Amino acid sequence: MFQGFYICFDAMKKSFMAGCKRCIGLDGCFLKGVSRGQLLVAFCKDGNNQMLPVAWAVVEVENKFTWAWFVKLLKEDLQLGDGTDLTIISDMQKGLEIAITDHLPNVEHRMCARHIFANWSKRWRGLERKKCFWRCARSTFEAELKDNISYMKRLGNNIVDHLLYYNPERWSKLYFNFSSKCDVVDNNMAECFNSWILAARHKTIITMLEEIRVKMMKRIGQMREFCNTWICDISPMAMKVLQDNTAKSMKCSIEWNSDTEYEVLHGPYRHVVDIQRQICSCRAWMLKGIRCPHAIAALHHRKLDPINYISHWKMPGRPGKKRKKKQGETSKIGKISKRGIEMSCSTFHNKGRNKRKCPLGAPASGTSFTAGPSSRPPSSPAAPSSRPLSGLAVAPTSTQIVVPAVAPTSTQIVGPRATPNVPTEKGRGRPKGSIEKGSVASRTRMVGMGALHTQSGATIINSLVKLIRAIVAPY
Ligand SMILES: [Zn+2]
Repeated sequence: MFQGFYICFDAMKKSFMAGCKRCIGLDGCFLKGVSRGQLLVAFCKDGNNQMLPVAWAVVEVENKFTWAWFVKLLKEDLQLGDGTDLTIISDMQKGLEIAITDHLPNVEHRMCARHIFANWSKRWRGLERKKCFWRCARSTFEAELKDNISYMKRLGNNIVDHLLYYNPERWSKLYFNFSSKCDVVDNNMAECFNSWILAARHKTIITMLEEIRVKMMKRIGQMREFCNTWICDISPMAMKVLQDNTAKSMKCSIEWNSDTEYEVLHGPYRHVVDIQRQICSCRAWMLKGIRCPHAIAALHHRKLDPINYISHWKMPGRPGKKRKKKQGETSKIGKISKRGIEMSCSTFHNKGRNKRKCPLGAPASGTSFTAGPSSRPPSSPAAPSSRPLSGLAVAPTSTQIVVPAVAPTSTQIVGPRATPNVPTEKGRGRPKGSIEKGSVASRTRMVGMGALHTQSGATIINSLVKLIRAIVAPY
């Protein structure tokens, strides 16, 4: 008799432990095919605040036994311990509360604010009430929540009592822990996943699980490509939040400051920022791990760049783009290292100094004491066409080491070894035109806020969530 089928791939485990936020969403949904049953899913947020399913299971029905079984396996696979520094967000699923209390006693358990709103708003309809609810859910400090609650009191009798029936510690940011660096208030990840696998849910269990596996495999590949489009190690979503906060920081004014502490005025609220301890009384900085507008204002006041202070949203263990060089290997293409060769002035043969620093003085432009024709492009004023003293002088090293039969101008050159004497800036990679067509260099590289380039040619910020939502509200 079929009881359950649990899946957690090794790639998902490693992803969770390597770079995901310690915030797990749990949800269950119905299967729609001939084989009735339910699918339990666990998600987390990846380093770019996007959904990453980590484990899923097919069960006959969701109840305290099936949830306990699922949570227990999840705890073992993801090494969750007793749930310390972990956040779980869920709807009010049957039996889940007990399972979490039993297996992860120290976890922070948030309730999906969207689910609470759906229940609460059955009685309290209207756009203004809806806006006020979400302002309450997203309030990060006490004064803000109090103001929003007192505003809500004006929108109906007992409206606040009905709202506070749902424990605000479960759904308002004011009460959330800082440890997960994820301030999400709803379980939208679950909705994304459920709609993503909607077609598969109409099929038989084995076919559905195979479809989910293939979808996940493709998505991991896409996300890997997506990471190559990042313009820096900080995730695009974090950069977007930082940009928005920077724009908001323009409206802040610094009222007072000491060495590390600042009092910042933002609208009707005053906040205290401590740069050294990395705290702000608005709590948004600690909740998300990205500097709030007040901290940014304080940093700008100290002439520091806020981008250097996002440690929680950096790509972990990203391999360096430069290959490690072996001992004695040259650092520049087409040029042999001068290490070990004694330097001498090509004009006066003064040992230990090059021509530029020779105390006897460099020759004036246009004189015949210059390097050979291949050492500079012809546009250089100090490059004559002949070298009359070649019999006397020790030729400058640069002229001896160039690849022979190279055209003197860089514009005529093709091929990997063709521009040996065109100087390259340190750390700026290969010289222009030094790579053959069709090689790695011809690969298009998208820049900007990060983009996912699919085979169909579409550019997507988040392949599962709507574009606007992914950018505007990256919670
Ligand atoms: Zn702040």
